[in-house]
Amino acid sequence: MPDVYNWHLGRKMSYAFDESHPSKQFVAIFNINRCIGCQTCTGACKATWTFSKGQEYMWWNNVETKPYGGYPQHWDVKILEQLDQAHQAAGIQPKWDTSQSDEQSPYGTYNGMTITEAAANGNEQALGYLPEDKQWRAPNFYEDTATAYKGDAALGISLDGASLPEHQTWFFYLQRICNHCTYPACAAACPRKAIYKRPEDGIVLIDQGRCRGYRKCVEQCPYKKSMYRGTTHTSEKCIACYPRVEGSDPLTEGVPMETRCMAVCPGKIRLNGLVEIAADGSWVEDPQHPLYYIIKTEKVALPLYPQFGTEPNVYYIPPRWAPRPYLHQMFGPVVDEAIAHYAAPSRQLLAVLQLFRTTQKMIFRYEIVEGPLVLETEVNGKPWQMYNDTVIGFDGKGQEAVRLTVVEPIHERPAERMNTI
Ligand code: SF4
Ligand code: SF4
Ligand code: SF4
Repeated sequence: MPDVYNWHLGRKMSYAFDESHPSKQFVAIFNINRCIGCQTCTGACKATWTFSKGQEYMWWNNVETKPYGGYPQHWDVKILEQLDQAHQAAGIQPKWDTSQSDEQSPYGTYNGMTITEAAANGNEQALGYLPEDKQWRAPNFYEDTATAYKGDAALGISLDGASLPEHQTWFFYLQRICNHCTYPACAAACPRKAIYKRPEDGIVLIDQGRCRGYRKCVEQCPYKKSMYRGTTHTSEKCIACYPRVEGSDPLTEGVPMETRCMAVCPGKIRLNGLVEIAADGSWVEDPQHPLYYIIKTEKVALPLYPQFGTEPNVYYIPPRWAPRPYLHQMFGPVVDEAIAHYAAPSRQLLAVLQLFRTTQKMIFRYEIVEGPLVLETEVNGKPWQMYNDTVIGFDGKGQEAVRLTVVEPIHERPAERMNTI
């Protein structure tokens, strides 16, 4: 298999195809700290794309409660177990080396096997399994079910209450769509070469004309985001709402738009856009792009299970209250730094974080106009200041799309109109 460079792992890895990168990449950030588990995103995707016969269990967007929940059930536990077994068989102890990091390896180097490398001596392109039908039946099994952090707590319930920085009784919501991976395992797995990554935006699609429903993509996508449709005998997956990304939705008059699941989010946890990609697959430096700034400059949003090796393009701001060993396994080795930066954000980061869910248009650039100091306090024992800066977001045509301040303005209704609009 050819070697390709995976910057999440800080090293080359083997993959089914030679390196070939899109000019732009569809990217999203989900801020777990803000999700209220309302499933509006889930319903919006279903109402738009998967309301037809044969798609009953297709939840291209789902929100599961960790640690017990998962769709299909236990998807990550199963693939992590497979990866563990492969490491044990090979006599390898997988580890992250964080002693050195740079632009090409911001999280250090992963010294373990990816799902592709772990399958290298077998007949498959990647480790994987085909979920049983019953595992697809309950998309939100274990919703809101907490667990105890303390190992000796009976019945998984801690009687000691909870306190920051890590709650002893905890759960969090994990929002999931297809990651439109840089190195998609689903595409590598497909014997029909029916899955492709679009050169203009990196969106991964299944050609319904070529697909014969062999379900190799369902088996080998480690995130289990390719799904089989019995009525058409083909597999289907999240299409990143590509008509909106292309700007063909009349609402935005030709500029790229965030997807349905992003645009409806009442928790304002989602930010979605396109980043520019260089020929070698690296992100073109662009610190005035909100996604680039949050992911690359501040490193507060991290990939989900980077050790799988697909270089997913959905990033998460990890929850502050969950036990760190659990989060390290899920988001890699720099979780502590990411949470520390998020809990006491820099002046610029606090302004950029305001851009989540303020417009349906994708934001390609932001500017900040400095405002007055409004708060001086301490966070985690260190001084921290808040400024009422104004952040301005610009759309794909360079036009101003949104303008807002860090401190939300308060509008007082006149007494005589207290209960009217
Ligand atoms: S998340 Fe799965 S289905 Fe989506 S691109 Fe990656 S490997 Fe393919
Ligand atoms: S991006 Fe579009 S197709 Fe994909 S999960 Fe969200 S709403 Fe569904
Ligand atoms: S719509 Fe937003 S807040 Fe609601 S569940 Fe989805 S991601 Fe969470």
